[in-house]
Amino acid sequence: MKHEEIVRENLANKQLRENLSKAMHTLQTNRAKMVESKFVNWEELREQSKYAKNKALNSLEERLLEFEANATKNGFIVHWANDGDEACEIIYNIMLEKKANKILKGKSMASEEIGLNHYLEKRGITAMETDLGEVIIQLIHEAPVHIVVPAIHKNRYEIGEIFHDKLGVEKESEPEKLNAIAREYLRGEFKELSIGLGGVNFALSKEGAIWMIENEGNGRMCTTISDVLISVCGIEKVLETVEDAVSVDSMLTPSATGQFIANYNNIISGPRREGELDGPKECHIVLFDNRRTDMLRHEDYHEVLRCIRCGTCMNFCPVYDKIGGHSYQATYPGPIGDVIDPQIFGMDEHGDVVTLCSLCNRCSAVCPVKIPLADMIRKLRRDKVGDGDNPPFGTQNLSKNIAEKMVFKAVTTAFTNGWIFRNGVKAARMFNTPIHMVSGFVPVVNKWTKYKNLSNFGIDVYKEVSNMQGVRYE
Ligand code: SF4
Repeated sequence: MKHEEIVRENLANKQLRENLSKAMHTLQTNRAKMVESKFVNWEELREQSKYAKNKALNSLEERLLEFEANATKNGFIVHWANDGDEACEIIYNIMLEKKANKILKGKSMASEEIGLNHYLEKRGITAMETDLGEVIIQLIHEAPVHIVVPAIHKNRYEIGEIFHDKLGVEKESEPEKLNAIAREYLRGEFKELSIGLGGVNFALSKEGAIWMIENEGNGRMCTTISDVLISVCGIEKVLETVEDAVSVDSMLTPSATGQFIANYNNIISGPRREGELDGPKECHIVLFDNRRTDMLRHEDYHEVLRCIRCGTCMNFCPVYDKIGGHSYQATYPGPIGDVIDPQIFGMDEHGDVVTLCSLCNRCSAVCPVKIPLADMIRKLRRDKVGDGDNPPFGTQNLSKNIAEKMVFKAVTTAFTNGWIFRNGVKAARMFNTPIHMVSGFVPVVNKWTKYKNLSNFGIDVYKEVSNMQGVRYE
């Protein structure tokens, strides 16, 4: 389905929009409460995390080689892959060597990015998810809707229906009962587990170890009770020291879920040693590039490699919470997806996502490692137009609708003329309430307000515009 069609379909899905809106609101509130109650130095920590990530990215080759040497010393088997297919092939070959036809997976967006499940399934190997959200969407053959909470678009009643239909259990809607069903379903699988797969939050180069963060304990099951552990890791995940990782971790969990610390922080430093009671007997790590070095070389987009996949930018995105993650039709939705999907999967295939943004700049303001996402999206749009590409989707039909054409012309004039803009904002402030009351009845405007709330114009609008990187306010 085309991007435009899927966006329209999702906008028309009231239940989806209600679920997303509630969930995003909860994530935003939890984060705000946590930052306010536990941190006196949030901004300082953001700077420190940015510094730690930049330090590693500025010496990426050295850090990766250091990681390889130290991880090998610790007993890891380190593999390198240029792209997703190579990474999948490496994992497939390990499965063949072990004569295994099933792999149990902890949550890993890296494995989503390389298309591992599909690759293995085509070759007769079952890749089974064990994270609760991933289990839910795997049962209904959907992709994750969010990078941290993959089934956030489903409410508990819908999840009860899915379990009832797919697992043949009683219809339930209480979270405890739903959890019990999932636990029962997974427990039998864990008993048989021989090959496990885990994600990587940080690869520690000085230690030659990997750090994996999770909340449910399924990741720890996959990484400790398996005979063979395979970890999949994008090369930008490397950090130099444990202290650097602690700085970044202090931002990651509060930003992602509003918790001070995640339930499970697993540091894996190699296979089981003599005398140890648990842990895998063999540990593989697959480090893959998938166009990350191209991004690193690009003067406009290298900063995006700081991303720690916390999902905050999508939690705050006024576009994402209306259309949901599936509208992006790529691994990474929301503002981070707008920036990296076209670069990983190609501008021709995924360039349309750069239009799924209102350039409000909230993503850049909340990103814990200070990635200027809105600025990058603007530059990507410039690149797309500069390529002489087709007009971005959603704009093709404008010329056919005279009323819309006139509205956009008026908006363009207002936004490019300082006098009209200033006085327009003043007038909008004065007429905020009546505008809110009548907007639902005004043709053309009501098409817009059907899906969006009109903002209350505040005096900060000048400050916000003038603070936007690359914008000169006159
Ligand atoms: S871009 Fe920033 S806010 Fe978005 S997922 Fe990455 S680190 Fe989090």
